[in-house]
Amino acid sequence: MKAVQYYSNTGFDRAPHLRKKEGEVFTGKTIYLWKGKIFTDHKGSPFVPFTGKESALSDRLFFLGCEGHSEILCTDLSHLEDGILGHFTGKGSFYDLREIAHRLSRKDAAVLAYAKGLAEWNAGNAFCGTCGHSTRSLERGHSRICANASCARIIYPRIDPAVIVLIEYRPENGEPLCLLNRVKTSDGYRCSTFAGFVEVGESLENAVVREMKEEVDVDVKHITYVASQPWPFPSSVMIGFTAEVKTTAFCVDNEEIKDAAWYSAKEIRELAASGQLVLSKSDSIARSLIEHWVENNECVESKVR
Ligand SMILES: [Zn+2]
Repeated sequence: MKAVQYYSNTGFDRAPHLRKKEGEVFTGKTIYLWKGKIFTDHKGSPFVPFTGKESALSDRLFFLGCEGHSEILCTDLSHLEDGILGHFTGKGSFYDLREIAHRLSRKDAAVLAYAKGLAEWNAGNAFCGTCGHSTRSLERGHSRICANASCARIIYPRIDPAVIVLIEYRPENGEPLCLLNRVKTSDGYRCSTFAGFVEVGESLENAVVREMKEEVDVDVKHITYVASQPWPFPSSVMIGFTAEVKTTAFCVDNEEIKDAAWYSAKEIRELAASGQLVLSKSDSIARSLIEHWVENNECVESKVR
């Protein structure tokens, strides 16, 4: 399994001690965001030298961390209409992060995902959930406080955990199989693992059992943690597991899941190579779970034969 999933922090220094330095003069580089999209210049760099003008947007300017002695900030320009973005015209363009992730280093992709998630959390919490007054940014974007003095509630970013599960069947004799969620395409199928949000009052394992029962009506055992991945689109963390079933019987719920099928490692590899099976995008933990399973189970298969 890949040690570091896409969008995971690969050594970026978040420098949390500098979040308290509110109101100081910023130096360094900023990432510009507009309505969820990331600005990159003509050379493809998302890190733009900080001009100082951004300080006027104090409620939309967030501190991410440091790269050496340079602070890395994020400026959310989502309040601007298309026409007012003229400053950027000719200097570069705004892109969806997942469209450009493959062109970026793992480290840069992780910083941009972090920026996007933090900006979206701030934008979505402009009002207090307790009293309805407006809130303002604290700790350079890492918390917010209600402007109503009699409330003064402080809120912090919330993360929505989701489990993502590769279901496998390991017969005593014969090749192991894994169950994939699939959608018909013109050439074959698009396949993925199963996923769902953790509910209030559940452990991660509880969520795995419930979600797999709901989506494909299977009873899973031997739930094993594999890896996790930040997924700030807008605010999740994906926790990846494998889980075993004792029979190959299943029944899709026809709501979230329309179709599913069992595949051996060899079938996945061959069908993916021929284009008849398109796996989840390469930046997803679903893809990592499937590739990891195929790598580990091709050996078992060859021993069986
Ligand atoms: Zn309040």
